[in-house]
Amino acid sequence: MRGWVVPPPKEPTKSPDDFQKERQQKVRWLLAHGFLRSRRITEALLRVQRENFIPRLYRDYAYIEVPLPLPGEKATISCPHSYPLFYEPLGLDEGHRFLEVGLGSGYGAAVAREVVGPEGLVVSVEIDPVTYEFARANLERAGYSDITLVLGDGGLGYPGMTPYDRICITAACAGPPPPLVDQLKPGGRLIVPLEEGEGQELVLHEKREAGLARQVVCTVLYIPLRGAYGSQQTRAERRPPR
Ligand code: SAH
Repeated sequence: MRGWVVPPPKEPTKSPDDFQKERQQKVRWLLAHGFLRSRRITEALLRVQRENFIPRLYRDYAYIEVPLPLPGEKATISCPHSYPLFYEPLGLDEGHRFLEVGLGSGYGAAVAREVVGPEGLVVSVEIDPVTYEFARANLERAGYSDITLVLGDGGLGYPGMTPYDRICITAACAGPPPPLVDQLKPGGRLIVPLEEGEGQELVLHEKREAGLARQVVCTVLYIPLRGAYGSQQTRAERRPPR
């Protein structure tokens, strides 16, 4: 399987101005390469300061196309293009009730918060307590006090605020976890990296009366989902010992 090369940790040297320029350049690049189309997602990416969601020793790499390590057992902030890659096919928009599985750094939740606006809702679930605390502190520092943060297994969703218009799973699994499908509104969309043989495909689902409609977006590489609907090791854990 293909991997990512993480650049070496180093003390940050860039100024807020440098980061702002890089952010604007990145958005132009995402537009030019067709990752980004909608006005609300474009504005959200221009507004959220990605560098503030990255551990200090990786901050200077904030706008490079590489996932960067986060505190916790197995968590990364996805590459910059991942966010429009997920949110554009989802059609994430103003007023949506949005559930994210895999809070990570909190960056994706902040971007979603900007997209859905004050009439919308953002709930994000994280399974790793160390990662959760990192994201919580990042979001608090950035002034996002209106995102519902949940420490738990996101494969089970978050029944407290159902139904959701849009669900985004930022870790790979074998299929959309049934509790998440139940918590999705009819006509709602769910996007998730699915394990396909040796690789993964990003798959968009739409909840129709007849079941889930599926559309493959592209091949991707994400860390595996943990918890009740995770792959290999979790399934092995669930199997009773012989
Ligand atoms: N959206 C994140 C990137 C997340 S990386 C960001 O913007 O930074 C995937 C995250 O999913 C990791 O933080 C990992 O700990 C978390 N995760 C894995 N399995 C999970 C589960 N079952 N429930 C909730 N979070 C999970």
